Amino acid sequence: MKKLSITVMAIAMVATIGGNEAKAQNQEIQKKVQQYAPFTLKTDMEKLTPQERELVGIFIDIAKVMDDLFWEQSFGTENRKKLREIKDPAIKNYAEIHYGAWDRLDAEKPFVPGYGAKPAGANFYPTDMTKAEFDKLDDPMKTSQYTILRRNAKGKIDVIPYHKAYEKQLARVDELLDKAINLAEDEGLRKYLEVRREALKTDDYYESDMVWMDMKKSRLDFVFGPIENYEDGLFGYKTAYEAFVLVKDEKWSEDLARFTQMLPELQKNLPCDPKYKKEVPGTDSDLNVYDVIYYAGDCNAGSKTIAINLPNDERVHLAKGTRRLQLKNAMEAKFNTIMLPIANLMISKDQLKNIKFDAFFSNVCYHEVAHGLGIKNTISGKGNVRQALQNQYSAWEEAKADICGLYIVQSLIEKKEITNITIEDAYVTFIAGILRSVRFGATEAHGIANMMCFNYMQDHGAFKRDKDGRYVIDVKKMRTALEGWAALVIKTEGDGDYEVARKYAAKNGVVRPDLAKDLKAIEKANIPIDIVYEQGKKVLGLKEKKEKKVTEPQAVKDNSVRF
Ligand SMILES: [Zn+2]
Repeated sequence: MKKLSITVMAIAMVATIGGNEAKAQNQEIQKKVQQYAPFTLKTDMEKLTPQERELVGIFIDIAKVMDDLFWEQSFGTENRKKLREIKDPAIKNYAEIHYGAWDRLDAEKPFVPGYGAKPAGANFYPTDMTKAEFDKLDDPMKTSQYTILRRNAKGKIDVIPYHKAYEKQLARVDELLDKAINLAEDEGLRKYLEVRREALKTDDYYESDMVWMDMKKSRLDFVFGPIENYEDGLFGYKTAYEAFVLVKDEKWSEDLARFTQMLPELQKNLPCDPKYKKEVPGTDSDLNVYDVIYYAGDCNAGSKTIAINLPNDERVHLAKGTRRLQLKNAMEAKFNTIMLPIANLMISKDQLKNIKFDAFFSNVCYHEVAHGLGIKNTISGKGNVRQALQNQYSAWEEAKADICGLYIVQSLIEKKEITNITIEDAYVTFIAGILRSVRFGATEAHGIANMMCFNYMQDHGAFKRDKDGRYVIDVKKMRTALEGWAALVIKTEGDGDYEVARKYAAKNGVVRPDLAKDLKAIEKANIPIDIVYEQGKKVLGLKEKKEKKVTEPQAVKDNSVRF
């Protein structure tokens, strides 16, 4: 009797603990969902022709199929159906943001009850397949970017090309593309859609990538198909479906093209020793600005992509280079929800007026342009900078692009080419931008570059703290520090002395204690870590054809650093 009651008590206790645990877990997930700030993806639809507006609708329909395909590749359609049965709205919501049961921004930790670790090969391979079994498999297509592996009834592994595995979904895409091709007014866009349509049927994307490179004039762009290979954590072979529906920002794009033409002149005026600026930078960069109006699949899972550099095919790089697309409204989303609150905490109240999106976006765009400035080959006979600096190269190259990007912005403001921001705006926003980007640490190239710059600026009096501990930027000293830091970075690249570069980065590419304190304060302030998108035809003012309301929260991926 006694024994029994103890057992009953024990069961009751376990049940209570279980209940409390579930409640605590639920609260934790709710908090996590709140870390994603909602943002509506829009653009000026008025500037589009009626045909273009109709095309946008079709592109969104295709993007939704890409989204379904990504779910299938990442998590499996059957598992997705089970997720829909979950009662807890917070868990359900979070699973939508992460396209599955694992937290993409927290080391893939499972958060849906009943799920263990994420299979490294996602749903591209049988989960019970061993590496030895893969190695033994005699099929040259097993490593293709466009095949999945499945265990058949006999227990053997079949290699299935995407166009067969996803035949049904792709047939729907084919129908939609047929309509789109008839509507496309821009010749480049029409040609691309035609060739891409064939590629989806054969899994040979080379020709469509080549044609996409030539698509220079179209106001609409549509990046879609199996593209990046991050989702295949097992071998990195398999590409995941995704889509971006994009509308070009013509003003910004034209300005970037025009200012890129000025690179040789900007190079001549670089604040560094003349012997490091003898190279003449190229002026044929393909860099354009877009608003994204729809994200789907891989690029929408977890952290959001804010810039595109495609295609990935090296054969296309050799023949035509790459196209770089800056996603302006996605950056604005992150600026409003993440950067502004951080600046509000950290920047002197008198200089908050200098925190501007246009300044932020200029710094980001001219960072890209500035990769073309400076020096590519060392002057010390050590070959090119990349070879000479080895694993230190990325940090220094990012440091160069950061500071020379700011130098370009400053020069263009002085030449009255940029008139919507002041130099003070550019400087204050630049420093606030560093506080934003080191939030998640300074371990990879961008983070180390940020810290080297920040510490140099601090040591040269570019900013100090006011009585509340807020940052005050000294415009005059910042200018001198900018010039000094640019000169030092370009010299380090031009000399190509690996040990000098390594020692400097090890000593200065770190978060110092006073900044670490600031980062703690930022952490406590519950500032969002990423965005979820409200997107679709309805928010664009397009007619919905009896489809479900798009309320699925969508979360963005920065290719290298978390925003
Ligand atoms: Zn860069």
